[in-house]
Amino acid sequence: MKDLTLKPIHEKLQPILDTVLHRNAGEPEFHQAAREVLESLGRVINRHPEYSEDALIQRICEPERQIIFRVPWIDDNDQVQINRGFRVQFNSALGPYKGGIRFHPSVNVGIIKFLGFEQTFKNALTGMPIGGGKGGSDFDPKGRSDREIMRFCQSFMIELHRHIGEYVDVPAGDVGVGAREIGFMFGMYKRLNNRFEAGVLTGKGLVYGGSRARKEATGFGTVYFVRSMLNRKGTDFDGKRCVVSGSGNVAIYAIEKVLALGGKVVACSDSGGYIVDENGIDLELVKQIKEVERGRISQYVERRGDGCHYVKSGSVWDVPCEIALPCATQNELTAADAKTLIENGVIVVAEGANMPCTSAAVQQFRKAGIMFAPGKAANAGGVATSALEMQQNASRDSWSFAKTESRLEEIMSNIHDSCHETAEEYSAPGDYVLGANIAGFVRVADAMRAMGVI
Ligand code: GLU
Repeated sequence: MKDLTLKPIHEKLQPILDTVLHRNAGEPEFHQAAREVLESLGRVINRHPEYSEDALIQRICEPERQIIFRVPWIDDNDQVQINRGFRVQFNSALGPYKGGIRFHPSVNVGIIKFLGFEQTFKNALTGMPIGGGKGGSDFDPKGRSDREIMRFCQSFMIELHRHIGEYVDVPAGDVGVGAREIGFMFGMYKRLNNRFEAGVLTGKGLVYGGSRARKEATGFGTVYFVRSMLNRKGTDFDGKRCVVSGSGNVAIYAIEKVLALGGKVVACSDSGGYIVDENGIDLELVKQIKEVERGRISQYVERRGDGCHYVKSGSVWDVPCEIALPCATQNELTAADAKTLIENGVIVVAEGANMPCTSAAVQQFRKAGIMFAPGKAANAGGVATSALEMQQNASRDSWSFAKTESRLEEIMSNIHDSCHETAEEYSAPGDYVLGANIAGFVRVADAMRAMGVI
């Protein structure tokens, strides 16, 4: 049945979308991501028809390479477990493939493809010399011991190592992959290649080539992006009520920066439910539970005492706020949530996660004139700081936190301005979705055009 909520797209782009849908059957997240970008490109090819020549847009929608592999490993009960590993090397026009690795039971080739596609434009927006890629596995790290995590990461890298390299493909973390997992994978890569190639992975520990501020970068960057949006309207975070979904790496450092800029965060969540704390979230307690103990957010309420409560399941977007930062996972914020947020007076929504808002939710925000920042722009601070880590590795240098953070701040402000100016240039002022898609596309497309049909 035809979905009437979908916007019509340019007649030259519809056949391209049809091919994407056909060739990648059963991959709804990739369809969603591709459709959103193609929707924005109609205006570009009207003005610059050369971008539709030589099947350029078809090529951008087709990953350069897709690798799928078996990951066998032995659990603590001496049982053999089998997972599936992926690396989708989407586009290398601007630099080596770059993008995280996700360990989560929901991972499949469609999820990795949508993430790799988004990553390509996101990385272009940073202005850094990095292509787009993504990887992962349907491995579920929840409840696994450190030794099991190590054995899994080692087995994963025994296959992955032949496909990556500092000039080829540079993975990093994503959901379920942090410094611990990157350490195990780096160790195995180093052993297999007999080479200390610091720039092959980012998100490394500080002692062996990691960058200061990398851990904080995605969350901090999202909040810097929102600050630019607010400033443009003559306002700032001061005293504003915020809700952040998730309580992983992105959410934690988004909360930290909102607090530093004078905002108030009253709710956050995990996959089990959400907490509301009208006194303002105690970030140290969230960090203790999530980063140190790897526990559940429900434990917050038991330890914090009066003034807060836990809601099992339900939607964190029922909590009224002016600033909403979805930082959990794809399609977590639905049209119904968008309606509630709008009714409750939200003014800004910025995606800290990758594609956390459904297409219908995004449409509602845009229709209601809510400032909306898509993930490929708002959460680009993580990968941008990964590129700074690559820079430090290449020059065998290690920058201070202040220097790295100020570079991040500058990059986020440039991304904001480039999305905003591009939207104005294409007669859609304030439309950050259009601005991000076009600005990212043009950079990748110009490099591809220069290189011929490859
Ligand atoms: N996984 C992060 C993202 O979605 C970071 C990728 C990287 O640092 O390479 O952008």
